[in-house]
Amino acid sequence: MVEIIKPKYVVDFKCIGAECEDNCCRTNYKLIIDKKFYKHMLYKSKMNIKEAEVFKRLHKQGSGAWGTSSAYAEMLTNEEGHCFFVGKDNLCQVYQYDGPEKMPDMCKEYPRLTFNRGSRFKEVSLTLGCPEAVRRLLFYADALDPITENQPSNIKLNKKPYERPPWFAAVRLLMRDILLIEDASIEENLYTLGLTLADLQALKAQSPTLMLDRIEYHSNVISSGSVRYAYQKTPPFRGATALIFLSMFDYLKACLVPVSKLTGRFFELSTLLDQNIIAFAKDKELTSAKRQDLIEKILQNPMALQRYQDYIATRPVAWINFFLESMIRHDFPKSGWLNVWYFQTYTFIYTRTALMVIALERELNDHDFVWIIQSLFTLLHDIKTEERLLLMCLEVDKRIEATICKALSVESGGDWSTGILFALKMHQASTAQT
Ligand code: SF4
Repeated sequence: MVEIIKPKYVVDFKCIGAECEDNCCRTNYKLIIDKKFYKHMLYKSKMNIKEAEVFKRLHKQGSGAWGTSSAYAEMLTNEEGHCFFVGKDNLCQVYQYDGPEKMPDMCKEYPRLTFNRGSRFKEVSLTLGCPEAVRRLLFYADALDPITENQPSNIKLNKKPYERPPWFAAVRLLMRDILLIEDASIEENLYTLGLTLADLQALKAQSPTLMLDRIEYHSNVISSGSVRYAYQKTPPFRGATALIFLSMFDYLKACLVPVSKLTGRFFELSTLLDQNIIAFAKDKELTSAKRQDLIEKILQNPMALQRYQDYIATRPVAWINFFLESMIRHDFPKSGWLNVWYFQTYTFIYTRTALMVIALERELNDHDFVWIIQSLFTLLHDIKTEERLLLMCLEVDKRIEATICKALSVESGGDWSTGILFALKMHQASTAQT
């Protein structure tokens, strides 16, 4: 028997098919197919396809999975970068001609992500590249309630012993408790989370007792209000948020060129954001310093700030669920540690800024929120893009920290960079205009 833990949003998820604003067959996914599907399509399908049009065989490289029967070939895309088998009606032709059971496993499973935790159990979540998955996760208070199933399994699971460290549950609980502090903003809670994780990180290789004692210490320090005091004393550092947003935004735009021929949801979003920034500047020729300055002014624009705050107040669990779900996906704190916090916090700052750029022109709605998150995660389906983005985030963070240290004439913080803590602080609304 295998224990399978699924959060409620996974169980409740239903593909909305033709209603979907970004059908997954029309995005830039790299589809790796198994030998069974490959052979079926070439020799048994009613579709009569030719190998060279549709598939590229993968060959064994070192000890990886490429070339094995589960990763036998790559499916090529059509001239628009979409799945070769998607019809004009957005429906799957393999499904229509050969039946649902003949579809590749990856398509049958999407957007579910299954993580084998050794041979004992699995955890399932949904990729946020699917817009309906984003809605299910971010807009429902009970989205992450765990539902456990026990299933007989004839699938071979990872035989390697899987053990979580003795402090796994205690660290997760502390992180959860911090995110759920009710009278603090999400910015303050992320600040507290970052500081706490940075401190606990040093104890990972030490005796479990030391870690458990330190967790209790942090719990007491947070209850005493001293982290809150530090947060309130931290000034928003001019330029930090703009640098994070523009680095991420420009990096994602650069990803578009090879993958989607400048179409798709992120392209539409980036076009809108650029238009709003240019309209706010009343100038098409923007140097990078001017763009950075403009973003800072947008963050202080009273109308944009008010619209952002009005909208985000309608979705009180969105960011809490976003962070809690990332712990499941990364098996945190067994792995990931500060990098999980970095990546999710960068995404938070990027999304907050993008919402405010949209809010320059109009009220915000759920569509905007889902659009920003889902279009980002669609690009991150390529694992290398995600890895490079994380490296870029860490690099930018060090730059921010160096600038802050120089401005304040203080030494750098040591083995982790703290620039992002300054970017978490919201600016005060002002009457600043270009
Ligand atoms: S992206 Fe999600 S909701 Fe949209 S078609 Fe694919 S599975 Fe269905």
